Amino acid sequence: MRAQPVASHFIDGAYVEDTTGAPILCTYAATGEDIARLHEATPPLIEAAMAAAARAQIAWAALRPVERGRVLHKAAEIIRARNRELSELETLDTGKPLQETLVADASSGADALEYFAGFAATVTGQTVPVGGGDFVYTLREPLGVCVGIGAWNYPTQIACWKAAPALAFGNAMVFKPSEVTPLCALKIAEILIEAGAPPGLFNVVQGRGAVGGALVTDPRTAKVSLTGSVPTGRKVYAAAAEGIRNVTMELGGKSPLIVFDDASLEDAVGAAMLGNFYSSGQICSNGTRVFVQKGIKARFLDRLKARTEAIVIGEPLDEATQFGPMITADHLDKVMGYVERGLAEGATLLTGGARLNRPGTYMQPTVFADVTDTMTIAREEIFGPVMAVLDFETEDEAIRRANATEFGLAAGVFTADLARAHRVAARVEAGTCWINAYNLTPVEAPFGGSKLSGVGRENGHAALEYYTQVKSVYVGTGPVDSPY
Ligand code: NDP
Repeated sequence: MRAQPVASHFIDGAYVEDTTGAPILCTYAATGEDIARLHEATPPLIEAAMAAAARAQIAWAALRPVERGRVLHKAAEIIRARNRELSELETLDTGKPLQETLVADASSGADALEYFAGFAATVTGQTVPVGGGDFVYTLREPLGVCVGIGAWNYPTQIACWKAAPALAFGNAMVFKPSEVTPLCALKIAEILIEAGAPPGLFNVVQGRGAVGGALVTDPRTAKVSLTGSVPTGRKVYAAAAEGIRNVTMELGGKSPLIVFDDASLEDAVGAAMLGNFYSSGQICSNGTRVFVQKGIKARFLDRLKARTEAIVIGEPLDEATQFGPMITADHLDKVMGYVERGLAEGATLLTGGARLNRPGTYMQPTVFADVTDTMTIAREEIFGPVMAVLDFETEDEAIRRANATEFGLAAGVFTADLARAHRVAARVEAGTCWINAYNLTPVEAPFGGSKLSGVGRENGHAALEYYTQVKSVYVGTGPVDSPY
């Protein structure tokens, strides 16, 4: 099998196998070929991973922050040097085109490691005068052992976006990848050891929801960071609440992209395609409800159709390929179910809408026009390459309809009128709003959702709040004023 890892798990600094765990078969979505066979973590392995993390965390937190940063910096360097190999693995694991993975996955993971490597040594507390010569100083402390649980669409990036801040601020991590994409996080664990991280600091255990559940409820778990769907988020958040644990929830979306008449046509069309077809549409922040103002609608749809039909669909390992398969056959069926719903509910199929007659789980990039707010394809997260174009007339109407969703992950606005752009950005209910851009997520900027799309923020300075806790130390300088 061409992507078989050394073993299924990485615990306490080494690959570990236990073949009594239920099998996990990893397939290449472009061909249906089995590329690796792994096993779920058994209870003894979960115990070993948690114990190793708890042990490693104490000594790691006691290091000078610059020393922690040095390890993360080294890991980023190794990732960059091995970018092609890691990108090919990401492509095999997910089916995403190599053209994308070469620039968006390992490199984004390295960015996070680099950013938080530098951040580590800048963390300080405050001194708070409280009168009478007394004062309080604050300490930013790590939380302890953090559990990371990842979705399948960005297995390398998700592992790094969680590990980098956790480790930088003195925590340890046990990470469970999606069972569908188990391979990439193992490489990050291996690279962290090569970079000088102590054994046990970052562990990877494989498994389905039950393994994730066991990690979330382990008494040693101080924090849970999940990237996944809203239904899973509800379960994991509730399980974490049982132990009053800290959480970050990066969940799904149904984000609006609002295109005004005065927008640059080619940029708006390009962004709508980027925000619906990159990674075959399997991106949480995608702008899947494209609101187009009436005056630009006809030209927008013409260019959208022409450019969408020119997308190069093919074998993901071929660097010319721009669009690959869906992650699994089940997921393809689910997405095709939404295409059928769109047709049945009266949306106009502008282009696409069919499965491809070739091996693997391929479908065409699909655009529906004349979509209305009540149609299923305008309300539910599809997580596939299905764009819904809706018409609007006024700014107020666009904002009201854009916000009429239970999700709040992201939004975009295209207009030449900067005052309007900032007005819209201020009024949309979303964790991120792009103006004349879409789906750019530099590590310097906080990322996360409002409403059902999540709790907390990853990246940027904001991540500090979610991977540390504040201790106040009161220093008395005079006699104790006791009434007794
Ligand atoms: P899922 O919610 O199905 O799974 C997410 C992870 O949670 C997987 O590792 C899964 O394991 C695990 N899991 C499932 N049930 C439990 C449980 N009861 N306890 C603990 N862990 C559990 O999401 P997908 O993998 O299908 O990913 C797609 C979803 O992720 C979309 O909704 C998308 O919007 C969202 N997402 C959000 C992002 C964000 O940053 N906001 C970014 C990327 C994706 P297993 O897979 O083995 O079942």
